[in-house]
Amino acid sequence: MRDNLAEAVAVVANMVQSALCRVRWWAVVSAREKIQGSHLERLAVIYLRQSTPAQVRVNVRSTERQYALADEAERLGWEAERVVVIDGDLGISGRFSDTQAREGYKRLVARVCLGEVGAIFGLEVARLARSSAELQRLLEFCALTDTLVVDTDGIYDLQDFNDRLLLGLKAQMSEAELHIITARLQGAKRAAAERGELRFPLTVGYLYDEQGDWIIDPDEEVRAAIADLFCAFGQTGSAYGVVGAFTGRRFPKRVWGGAWGGELRWGALTHTRVVRILQNPCYAGAYVFGRYRSRRIVRPDGTITTKTVELPRSEWPVLIQDHHPGYVSWETYLANEQRLAKNNTRAGQRPPREGSALCQGIVRCGSCGQSMSVRYRSGSAHYDCSASRVNHLRTPACRSVKASVVDELVVSRLLQALAPEQIALALAAADEVQARRARSSRALELRVERARYDAARAERAFHQCDPDNRLVARSLETRWEQTLRELKDALAELAEHTTPAPEPSREQIEALARDLPKLWAAKTTSEKDRKRLLRAVIADVTITSQPAGSELQIGIRWRSGAAEQHPMPRPPSYNDTTRTPPETIELIAGLVAEHTNSEIAAELNAAGLRTGRGLPFNAHAVRHIRRTHRIPTMTSRDDRDLTVNQVAEHLGVSRDAIYYWVRHGQLNARRNDTNRLRIPFDPEVAQECRKRIANSSRICTQTQTPATRGAV
Ligand SMILES: [Zn+2]
Repeated sequence: MRDNLAEAVAVVANMVQSALCRVRWWAVVSAREKIQGSHLERLAVIYLRQSTPAQVRVNVRSTERQYALADEAERLGWEAERVVVIDGDLGISGRFSDTQAREGYKRLVARVCLGEVGAIFGLEVARLARSSAELQRLLEFCALTDTLVVDTDGIYDLQDFNDRLLLGLKAQMSEAELHIITARLQGAKRAAAERGELRFPLTVGYLYDEQGDWIIDPDEEVRAAIADLFCAFGQTGSAYGVVGAFTGRRFPKRVWGGAWGGELRWGALTHTRVVRILQNPCYAGAYVFGRYRSRRIVRPDGTITTKTVELPRSEWPVLIQDHHPGYVSWETYLANEQRLAKNNTRAGQRPPREGSALCQGIVRCGSCGQSMSVRYRSGSAHYDCSASRVNHLRTPACRSVKASVVDELVVSRLLQALAPEQIALALAAADEVQARRARSSRALELRVERARYDAARAERAFHQCDPDNRLVARSLETRWEQTLRELKDALAELAEHTTPAPEPSREQIEALARDLPKLWAAKTTSEKDRKRLLRAVIADVTITSQPAGSELQIGIRWRSGAAEQHPMPRPPSYNDTTRTPPETIELIAGLVAEHTNSEIAAELNAAGLRTGRGLPFNAHAVRHIRRTHRIPTMTSRDDRDLTVNQVAEHLGVSRDAIYYWVRHGQLNARRNDTNRLRIPFDPEVAQECRKRIANSSRICTQTQTPATRGAV
């Protein structure tokens, strides 16, 4: 298909070439005639472009030729000050017709549309714009504004049909040509990749040998660092753990591009690098091509950008296993990948955390089926059905439970279940510790070796240097001294590491292993390790509560598939433990008739009673209890006595009159707890007041009642 197309393009290209030859004689004769005074009065714009910065850097001749077009414009009759060079687009790709990025091209089009341009100069007209559609539009504008187009083949007047046809053809040809070249290059690249022979910059830990085959880096320190990274991941199970294991230890990096291009640099290991290395299939001996693909995205504002995306493994175009020696097996690579995915909390995974709630991540709500989260309230952990609340699925039985109650049961069941396996577990743990120690001391030995080598090399360089050349000798001496200092540091660190630490013997470990509960409870065992062990045996824990009542059902599902259910009493909640005792409430109810809140509080304190939280009572606490327990206040003095408003309303006078009487001792009143006036208003008092109103000339009674006042 592709070859047929190539042939067709070749045939058309020949036709265009011959057509070009035939018109050229005519073009040469008539070219000069096309340039009119009206063109020369306007600008001659030289539009320069090259797609990539590399083209600009390497293909200097082309750039020079493009700039030389300015001289050509002057030769054709334009005055020097009317020649404008637009070179802002040098090194900017027009491939994705991202005109946003190509400001120069936009300026060119704008000036053409304004009718400022007499002629556009370019090395090859078809390359003015990368896409044929864009070029056609530019040519259309040229035709409308009577703008000439000049390239090395001739001068084109877009108002002339033949010229327009010719330029259109050339643009089409150029696009087809580009397509075919790209297709051929990509095809060759893909074929080389399918053979596993396509070369690209190798990741650290690998090198090309003389034949171009992949080999593991012969530098032992590099090899050890990468091998230890995979070991550390095996032990810690997380990329953050690996970074922690490499604290204070340097990690190699192969630099690409720039001043250090191709060299090995040493630096701190970062989380991103750990993840990249673990996910890179080449460390498992596989050759992969096309793991990433660039995709074009149209943004809402119409601009087009490209984004690199990683393809799923099933879509990788080339994957050759056992292509070169690997640091890990393909199976380990797949397992690591799975483990990383399990750590990804953003993807809904819940890896073990450092908190004290042991069932974190594996506990579910038996009522709604959602997984429960851990909340820490006043120092103790609770399993809480928060997911159901978020999703508005919360049922009355979705209740939070104190973590310690569930954990105690689960751990006791776990320790019972693990009893026969305890020694095997402990021995495996002991082997692990030894292997880890050996690995880390090996890294230190390698560092000493490297420092010794560097020192020897610096010494040799110093001795070989001409002693008269003081400047060089001095700097070489400084370097030698520095390498010696590094050697000393490395030796000291190794010595510190190899001195035998107080380590338990195998017998001691075996003795310890006989009692897994002790190991489990040991301070050195981290919560994370406990959770890992727990998850290795228990698949999940389900907590089922009743909407009310204090019974819990705790279900344990073992990895083996077995399941069990344990009924348990629900521990008293925080509210339960801080609730006021019923006797105190009764006492308050008895006192409210004749006492204010402050008086009740004083009575309770005098009787040696305390609030639910163990604090002395005050008026606020008493009011709260009365409100919560709805202790009626009908018989209290407050309710018998009237407020100023009520009295005023009753007598049909203004409040000011009442205040006046109270101020002048004509009416008895007292202040209550909240400092409000309360008036003991019995029929006698009312009679007296009415008499006073009747005798007064100043007080005018109000005929309107407060209820109707608002409606008027
Ligand atoms: Zn729930």
